[in-house]
Parts: sequence; structure tokens; C-alpha cells
Amino acid sequence: MSIQQPHEAMTDTDQERELDRLRLPEEARAVVLARARPLPIERVPLPEAGWRVLAEGLVATEDHPPFAAATMDGFAVVANDASPWREVIGAQMAGYVTDVEVTAGTAVRITTGAPLPRGADAVVRVEATEPAEDHVIIHQEVVTSGENIRPVGADLRRGERLLAAGTVLGPAELGLIAGLGLTPVPVRRRARVSVLSTGDELVEPGQPVGPGQIRDSNRFSLVVALQREGAEVVWSGKAPDERAALRRLLVERIAASDVVVTSGGVSMGELDLVKALLGELATVHFRRVFMKPGKPLNFATAGPDGGVLLFGLPGNPVSALVSFELFIRPALTSMAGRADIDRPFVPVTLAHDTPPTDRIEYQRATVRADPDGRLVARTTGGQASSRLASFVGANALLVIPPRAEPYRAGERVDALLLAPPLGPEQTPA
Ligand code: AMP
Ligand code: MG
Repeated sequence: MSIQQPHEAMTDTDQERELDRLRLPEEARAVVLARARPLPIERVPLPEAGWRVLAEGLVATEDHPPFAAATMDGFAVVANDASPWREVIGAQMAGYVTDVEVTAGTAVRITTGAPLPRGADAVVRVEATEPAEDHVIIHQEVVTSGENIRPVGADLRRGERLLAAGTVLGPAELGLIAGLGLTPVPVRRRARVSVLSTGDELVEPGQPVGPGQIRDSNRFSLVVALQREGAEVVWSGKAPDERAALRRLLVERIAASDVVVTSGGVSMGELDLVKALLGELATVHFRRVFMKPGKPLNFATAGPDGGVLLFGLPGNPVSALVSFELFIRPALTSMAGRADIDRPFVPVTLAHDTPPTDRIEYQRATVRADPDGRLVARTTGGQASSRLASFVGANALLVIPPRAEPYRAGERVDALLLAPPLGPEQTPA
């Protein structure tokens, strides 16, 4: 008896139907993430590691500070010393070691960050002292041992876990790495991404627009969106709705990329060739998502081990960018091994009524914290999938579930935050 795989039992029409089954966005996202494999590790010199993703956990290799240091400008003294004034026997500046020993009745002038001289166990701030020829008078009644001193390892202990793998190296992280002299830095290679706009109607910027033509905008918004996520856009261009040319370009881009992003040509029209070509050149995983905008999103994998991700985005500019946020960005953060794959997902309160929807709708909105700290969302106006202006100033995508009745002002919905919430609205004086 042989066990039949469900796929073998499927006829071609069954398979087509399965590919066109409307997936919930979560299901589609899970399919994408399951295919997004971590990129290889590379070691780059410290200055180039900024905003890259750390690939291996880092442990402190030294104590910080490496010596007990003054945290104030003043005088290094022995705390337990009743002398009303002390002889100044030397100066200890940051960056040097002076060979002096502080004893009762003496003091050493010291600057912030300088190593504590032998014998001293406290630093009296300069404001609490009074110079008198080669002496100093201490005006502080009680001096405590350890005062104004940063002991060895106060900031960082050798062996302490410094940064976890998956951390994005921003200013503080890079500074810590620099402070320990850890170079080169192990990071994930940037994803190599190709961006292809398709459509006979598309014209290059700076070129005259003829009858029935429009300028290509997707290529430019997608390139910037990709760069912001740390991807390396290795190629971008456009192609006509012409089978042979498109096929040639797709084959070439699949061979040279980790991710290929196309826009246009995935709807139901006779010139929607991308959809057909993905079926020929790659393994298609889904072709429709239960969302608005962005329903005809195609996702496929190709390459020797299926490691190249292909996203066939719909041509409408808003559909393309919403699809980017929901599927391509998580794929990239996951490939980069980032600890935080997702943007924050938070409940918000609608500031106004919103019409009903028959698919999960991702509305572009502005989210503000009101004076009580409540997050209030206002959409950015007309939500047509062609109206790119609806993304301008938007710091959130509201997730509006399908239902027959309109949503009312004051109702709560979830929002994917694209940027931090704005502060309370300022009323002009
Ligand atoms: P398609 O998905 O090819 O059917 O295109 C859907 C809509 O998006 C059509 O109105 C196209 O003209 C428009 N469109 C397609 N590609 C682009 C692009 N790169 N930039 C701006 N609009 C586009
Ligand atoms: Mg088209």
C-alpha cells in the first residue's frame, strides 16, 4: 500500500485553486517567514557596522573602567584624615599615570577620568576646596571613602553579556563595541534586493508623459523602503508588458538576488504576465491575500535551494507599499536575524467614523497620544489604493476587520505603528 501525498492527489485545477485561495494576512505572513532564512555572517570593520545587525552575541573582554577613576575634578585624598589643610604633592591628569602616593596630610590635584593615585581613597570636588599656595584647604566636613570614584568594572564587568545577537547597532551599541575595541564586528550580510516595475504605461522620471502613460513611482518608493530596512538594492529598473523581456530580466535578477520585488502584472488582465512567469520560473506559494489594498499579492521562491524570495506586488502604489510593510519588511528583518522582527502592534481609538469593509483593510493613519496618554487614530483621508498621498504623514496602518456595520468614533482597533505616535495636538496660541 502506498501513502499518497496530498499534492500528488491534486489535479492541476486543484492546485491552481489552492494557489488562488484567499489567505488571511497572518497565514500569508507565516508562509513568507518560513521561507526567509538568515543571511550569511560577515565581519566588517567597526565604522561600517553602524545600523547593521549583530550576528553573534558579544561579551565584555575588559573591565570598564579598567582602573579606578575620578568622577569629578578636585583633589585625591585619604578619606580618614583630620588634617585641616593638605600639602599638594602632585597632579594626576586623565590619560597619564603619575607616580605619587597620597598619605594623610597630602593631596593630589586630579581631573575627571584620571586614575586614582596610590594611597588615595576619595576625591573631594574642587568646589569644596580652597587653594592656599602649595596647600589646599578642605571645606567639606565629612569625606567618605570611595567618594567621587568610579571603581574598576563599575560600568562593565569582564565576561558580562554586552549585546545579544540580533541587535541593531545604533549609537550606544556601536559606542560600546568601540569602547572595548572589538573590531571587526560580526554582522549579517545585507540582503541583495532587485526591484522591477512592470507596465507598458510606465515612463522614467524626467521623460515626457505621452497619452495613456504615467510615471513609474513604485520603483522609487520601494527602493527607499528597502534601504531604510538595511537592504542593499543591487539593481532596479522597469520592464514593458512583454513576455520575453520580462522573463529574461526575472531569470537574471533571480540569479543575482536574495529577494526580487516586482510591481504590477499580477491582477487578472491578459497582460498580467508576472503572475504567469513566477509560475514558470519559481515555486509559487500564494497569489491572493484577504486584504485591502494588496489582494493580488504573489509570493514565490526560486534558486537552487529555494532561498530566493520573490514578491509580485500589485501595481497600485499604496498596495505595493502596504504589501511591503506587511510581508517584505518582516522577511528582511527575519533574514537579518533581527531580534525585533515586527513593528509595534497596539490598540488605538478611532477619532472618527469609518465605513464598513469586506476584507481586512489597512488604513493609513496618524496616531497621537492625547493628553491622557490614550492613542487616538485619524485616517489620512481618501484611502484609494492609487492615492499615494494617503501614506504621507501616516505613522500607522489601522487594521480594520471586515464587518457589515460602520466603525464609530471611539471604537478601538489595532494599529501597526510605522513610526512612534505623535504627541498631543498643539493648539496655536
Ligand atoms: P497592475 O497591477 O499592473 O494591474 O497595475 C495596477 C495599477 O497600478 C494601474 O493603474 C497601473 O498603471 C498602476 N501602476 C503599476 N505600476 C506602477 C508603478 N510602477 N508606478 C505607479 N503606478 C503603477
Ligand atoms: Mg500592469
